[in-house]
Amino acid sequence: MSPLLKALGEISGASGVITGEALAERLIPHGQPLAIVRPQSTKEVAEVLRACHEAGQPVIPYGGLTGLVEATSASQTEVALSLERMNQIEEIDSASRTMTVQAGVPLQLVQEAADAAGMMFPLDIGARGSATIGGNVATNAGGNRVIRYGMMRDQILGMEVVLADGTVLSSLNKIIKNNTGYDLKQLFIGSEGTLGIVTRLVLRLRPKPVSQQMAFVAANTFDEVTEILNRLDANLGGSLSAFEVLWQDYYKLVTTPPAKGKPPLNHDYGYYILVEALGGDDASDAERFLAVLSEAMEDGVVVDGAIAQSQAERDAMWAIRDDVGQVAQFRPVFSFDISVPLNHMDSYVRELKIALSDQWPDNKCMVFGHLGDGNLHIVVGVGDKSAKSQVEAIVYAGLPSRGGSVSAEHGIGIQKRAYLAMSRSPEELLTMKTIKRALDPNNILNPGKIFI
Ligand code: ZN
Repeated sequence: MSPLLKALGEISGASGVITGEALAERLIPHGQPLAIVRPQSTKEVAEVLRACHEAGQPVIPYGGLTGLVEATSASQTEVALSLERMNQIEEIDSASRTMTVQAGVPLQLVQEAADAAGMMFPLDIGARGSATIGGNVATNAGGNRVIRYGMMRDQILGMEVVLADGTVLSSLNKIIKNNTGYDLKQLFIGSEGTLGIVTRLVLRLRPKPVSQQMAFVAANTFDEVTEILNRLDANLGGSLSAFEVLWQDYYKLVTTPPAKGKPPLNHDYGYYILVEALGGDDASDAERFLAVLSEAMEDGVVVDGAIAQSQAERDAMWAIRDDVGQVAQFRPVFSFDISVPLNHMDSYVRELKIALSDQWPDNKCMVFGHLGDGNLHIVVGVGDKSAKSQVEAIVYAGLPSRGGSVSAEHGIGIQKRAYLAMSRSPEELLTMKTIKRALDPNNILNPGKIFI
């Protein structure tokens, strides 16, 4: 064992460093590190980083390892730092509506603790069971209810973070308003572990909704889709919490066997929208939801619709939207997470489908996403695993001229590194690198992620 690993063992205890066979037994995506160090406190994280900083030892921060862009990939010369032993919920403050947590707590436990205390933590993603709250910060996670509650960035009031040299920045602030100079926590949100290790957080909680209204509605044109979004946003009194659009191909896929979902609407329409509203009064919320949708149908904006009548029907509607696994039928497939401003979204998707069909007439192109946030998920299958970079080039080509983004909610990691300059100017990239150098002069934190 190297002197550095020995020193890390002295900091975090004998069981705090995992190497050899115990390391080999762990399922680690994207490469095995030299060791996994598991500090139990902020003080230990600081000591670990100080030692690594002095030794010039690269450190790969580990959360739940559920990311989608290989931001936690590691090599045999790199040490992983896992927050798995910092997994305590420290405080729930009902008056301030906050929860103070250690960064290694899984997202689902945060949600459950908020619920048990009569409140809600609104961020939700499919990987909730294993994704950690610290990982959600590092990636600025999004998910299905961003339209109402914002991304992870919007759920954070205070943060404690350890810099590369072991400096502890403790800003465990509980207040919403705090204009006292730079809001340093924002730097670390979405930084993919390249600027510091988040150790503790003060999360913002929300009132728990008591009613959930849901429907699937159909539209024939994209103009109708945006008209429906505007109407619901304006007329549902701020309760619209999801506006998930499924293009026809994807809707057919997830409502046709072997998919288990039964189609709430037939397969004749161009666009299907899962609409959800969360409110505070079941009877009046249901009445308003029905009234707004009925009016849209009478005006011919919504061409067909089905309102969920029970919790089972609501769950079934979400299951249809989330049955992304069905795309495996077209394996090999390439998955994308992009943003396009709504006024350019329709032309973008049309051009994309034409460009793909020009090259691969039998391609599959499934489009769905969080339309209210301008965020689309695109899954492309062309029957050829080696066509990845060709497909990437086609998917990303239409974005810069439209003011789109090559990554809406998954981050850059190493998978999208080559395309970062399509969404960021040379000046922005230079500023990012200046910040990186200032906070991590020895380049030990997740080196090579986001940019080189
Ligand atoms: Zn998503």
